[in-house]
Amino acid sequence: MRKSPPLSVLENAREALRRLASKNLPPTPENYRMAFHEVLGQPDVPTFPADEFKALQAALPRKSTQQIHLARQLETAISEKSWDSFKDALIEFLANQGSTETPWPGLIRELLRQLDVPHAEVTAFQKKKALEHILATTSKADLLLTRIQSLVGSWTKNTEKNSQELASLILSAPPATNLGETAALPPEAEKMLSTDTQWQDGIPDLQSLIAQVLDNILAIVLRNNPELIREANEISVSVKAAQNTESLVGLSGRLKKLCYRTHFIAEDEAEVNVALLHLIQLIMDNISELVVEDQWVTGQIGMMRDLLLQPLDLRRLDEVERRLKDVIVKQGLLKKELTEANDRLKLMLAAFVDHLTNFSETTSVYHGKIEACAEKMSRANGVSELTEVLNEVMYETRMVQVDTARSRDELSLMQKRVQEAEQEVARLQSELSTTSKMIRHDPLTGALNRKGLDEALQKEVNRYQRQGGDLSIALLDIDNFKQINDDRGHAVGDAALVHLATVIQETVRSQDTLARYGGEEFVVLLPNTGTEAAVSIMTRVQRELTRKFFMANNDKVLITFSCGLVNVAQAEDPHEALQRADAAMYLAKRSGKNRVISA
Ligand code: GH3
Ligand code: MG
Ligand code: MG
Repeated sequence: MRKSPPLSVLENAREALRRLASKNLPPTPENYRMAFHEVLGQPDVPTFPADEFKALQAALPRKSTQQIHLARQLETAISEKSWDSFKDALIEFLANQGSTETPWPGLIRELLRQLDVPHAEVTAFQKKKALEHILATTSKADLLLTRIQSLVGSWTKNTEKNSQELASLILSAPPATNLGETAALPPEAEKMLSTDTQWQDGIPDLQSLIAQVLDNILAIVLRNNPELIREANEISVSVKAAQNTESLVGLSGRLKKLCYRTHFIAEDEAEVNVALLHLIQLIMDNISELVVEDQWVTGQIGMMRDLLLQPLDLRRLDEVERRLKDVIVKQGLLKKELTEANDRLKLMLAAFVDHLTNFSETTSVYHGKIEACAEKMSRANGVSELTEVLNEVMYETRMVQVDTARSRDELSLMQKRVQEAEQEVARLQSELSTTSKMIRHDPLTGALNRKGLDEALQKEVNRYQRQGGDLSIALLDIDNFKQINDDRGHAVGDAALVHLATVIQETVRSQDTLARYGGEEFVVLLPNTGTEAAVSIMTRVQRELTRKFFMANNDKVLITFSCGLVNVAQAEDPHEALQRADAAMYLAKRSGKNRVISA
């Protein structure tokens, strides 16, 4: 009999506590963990602090390609909970520090070039003075970099009023007595080059955030409005170039106007969404009236209508799209077959009419001949003439009999062919409902089939690789399913599969996707779900199956499954992740079935 896992966990926990007591150790979390591992006979590997590392990784700067590379490597290491990968990534980063690409050589080269290039609004003397002032008043390396970049930028962008003001203010300042110390500047210039920490630390971040909102986010809402996109880009450039509070505040009027106009565009778009949704619902209603005779298609459309009644998100739209594609494929195939069946029937009908015409032609010739014979009979003189006419009548009658028999044979042959054609249409239709490779849903359980799973998995992986977070995959296989089939028959086995699929669908969240992976194997895609949460969802499904029994002819049958769970790594191929889940599922089988094991 199966050993219940919660009980053995409890026993282990008790034993761990007993050991702590016997060693007179206080039950601190560390002592308890050590004792617990001792009981299990496993090395006491400290748990990987994934959440803390995730927070650390999120806070890392991503300014250089090496920093971005480090952040990515750490992300993978955290998702794999791998101390080794984490350590390797840090060592690699630090080892490369000596050769970190620095923006200084490029900047100094540009600075030297721009010092020599004549600019209409700034003289060489003004440029040097401004540079000396920055050098004398800035001690932090990164701030120095930003300031010199801005200064050089202001020379090249002479349209920026700010640079002229700054240069002329610096020019009007008394000459510095000692280059190592802060030169005395007019208060306005001081303000512009202020070392006020609030401007230094907070405002550049804010500037780049505003620019990001304008360049990346507003550009999406305004994608059909080039004039406003241009305005957003211009404001973004000015925001990035602003070097003091005044110039930033000076942009607020333009920004407000842009927000106002964008607001209307966003509202219009929301209305368009609602209108589109109504339109789709209308089309669904219409199609469902047209295809009332096909149970499968009406079922799919019913599900689509239900999905459309809930608030829409991209995942739900994907599901609607998948079902709609199935309906379109199936309708297309049915239509082709129906047209062919109709053509066949038309041809048969035409042949039938031909036969009838031939037959009636033959019989009318016969009637004419019999009438002529009757005429001859009335005029016959003597037995020999009568005998001749009678022979003629018998011959004609025999000929008609032969014709009639032939027509009857041909008609019955045709009738047989019509029946065969009808049977062929029925066979094709039922085959279509059960085995069509084009369709994405399993007709028995309504879950996605392999094709549907491939598409959904690819979409989820793309989404996850784009947006980050977590993606878990659960692969489950019913325990001892062959026994159910053997004991109760295949039809009951089928009903058990439907029951399991229904319980899973009812238990998992709306964003999770269920697919039939094979005969009695299912896959659940769990987006935005870490391993722990995924384990608890699949354990909840196990619990639900003990509450919602499968009823087979008034018998309660407990369906259990073994489940392998994996967390997809950032750059992992989805099929490799499935294989890992499969391996974990087999481990669950080998460890006694009816359990969830995460890889
Ligand atoms: P285990 O716990 O090791 O998974 O044992 P099992 O009996 O579940 O596994 P096994 O692979 O031996 O048997 C699976 C059975 O599932 C065999 C097959 O006839 C049955 N099966 C597969 N697809 C269907 C189906 O669509 N309907 C029904 N009724 N049975 C199916
Ligand atoms: Mg199996
Ligand atoms: Mg099985």
